[in-house]
Amino acid sequence: MGTPAKKIAFHTLGCKLNFSETSSLSRDSLKYGYENVNSKEYADIYVFNTCSVTENANKETKKLIRRSKRINPKAFIALIGCYAQLKPEELINIDDVNMVLGTAEKFELLNHLDKAKISNDIKVVLNNDINEISSFNPSYSGDDRTRAFLKVQDGCDYSCTFCTIPRARGKSRSASINQTVNLAKKISKSKTKEIVLTGVNIGDFGVYNNESFLELIKEIDSQVDIDRVRISSIEPNLLSNEIIEFCFNSEKFMPHFHIPLQSGSNKILKSMRRRYKVEEFKSRINTIKNLDSHACIGVDVIVGYPSETEEDFMETYEFLKNQDVSYLHVFTYSERENTKAIDLKPAVPFKERSNRSKLLRELSDQKKAQFYKKSIGASRPLLVENNKNGILFGYTDNYIKVKISSESSIENTIQMVKILDFRGEYMLGEIIASG
Ligand code: SF4
Repeated sequence: MGTPAKKIAFHTLGCKLNFSETSSLSRDSLKYGYENVNSKEYADIYVFNTCSVTENANKETKKLIRRSKRINPKAFIALIGCYAQLKPEELINIDDVNMVLGTAEKFELLNHLDKAKISNDIKVVLNNDINEISSFNPSYSGDDRTRAFLKVQDGCDYSCTFCTIPRARGKSRSASINQTVNLAKKISKSKTKEIVLTGVNIGDFGVYNNESFLELIKEIDSQVDIDRVRISSIEPNLLSNEIIEFCFNSEKFMPHFHIPLQSGSNKILKSMRRRYKVEEFKSRINTIKNLDSHACIGVDVIVGYPSETEEDFMETYEFLKNQDVSYLHVFTYSERENTKAIDLKPAVPFKERSNRSKLLRELSDQKKAQFYKKSIGASRPLLVENNKNGILFGYTDNYIKVKISSESSIENTIQMVKILDFRGEYMLGEIIASG
């Protein structure tokens, strides 16, 4: 009998980009002879793809390290991702951590693990100057049968004052259209029905290759045999009318946009160094809604940014209240080292940050309920996913969560459903035809 395969567990913190990178590494680990296990189980090696967007994400990493060591006191712990790039010394100095790999080196994780001989008394830190990273590593998630996240772009050339991402992920870069389309074609040959295009600043795709995001989506549309494509999130200044119109004319691109606003006050947007004004954002929403009043629009917003007064916050609140948007992702500002915003005064008291966050979350619930209720009586294509309890849920093209029942096995198929009733977190629907 040969030696049993070493068990490796991957865990992702943070965004879909991290998720797609972890998925690629975990697929590759099989080729290196590892057995993949869940990070809550016993493993010889635990790999955590870290995030540094909030203080909470940092704490979460430390919690995961402790949990792994409780399961296997001899486990080898490797940390990759944004936190690993930003704070390599802090992380390697944690007793139980054996390996810290920065943004470029993380893609070499499996080679480094091979070389390290997986002994838990070693300490390895490999971390390049972030300004020197120019390579792009395409990745995609492939664990989920219905949906894959395809990373098409990495890094960011912007300098929003609250954000650590450019320091953690480096300059904007992407593969060529040709390479990206080929990867999308590869995904389309699996059982996946929907590709979600992800990146740090996706609208910046191709800037250094003389290519553009619009050209990319046109090529994906014409060359890739897939039912659905979504754009994960795109900066308002880069979401051109051409992109919007193209998505509505395409059968593959879904009528769903996620656009970061961050603040509804021009004063705060300027202080944040965002590259648009509230008026421009509003005009994007109008363009989308004039083309399809049922299109879904999600919005990111930050509350409690330093110097944000009660009036500034209310300006954001009123602005969003008056826009036809479908849901909000509300982020409470947290101080991040080495950002410009950390020096801005006055800081908003924590209690006030949490009050503002609560108000916007309530507004988000109202917006979502309005958007959902507007769909009652409509017929829309639904990509059916399987809930663990055997109840069928899925998302419509315009991102409404719908529950249906069926005697047949229809997971991972597209069905035409009639939307019947509002049930809070989801809508109730019935199948009227196979899509
Ligand atoms: S656009 Fe701004 S918020 Fe987004 S990653 Fe770049 S710097 Fe950060």
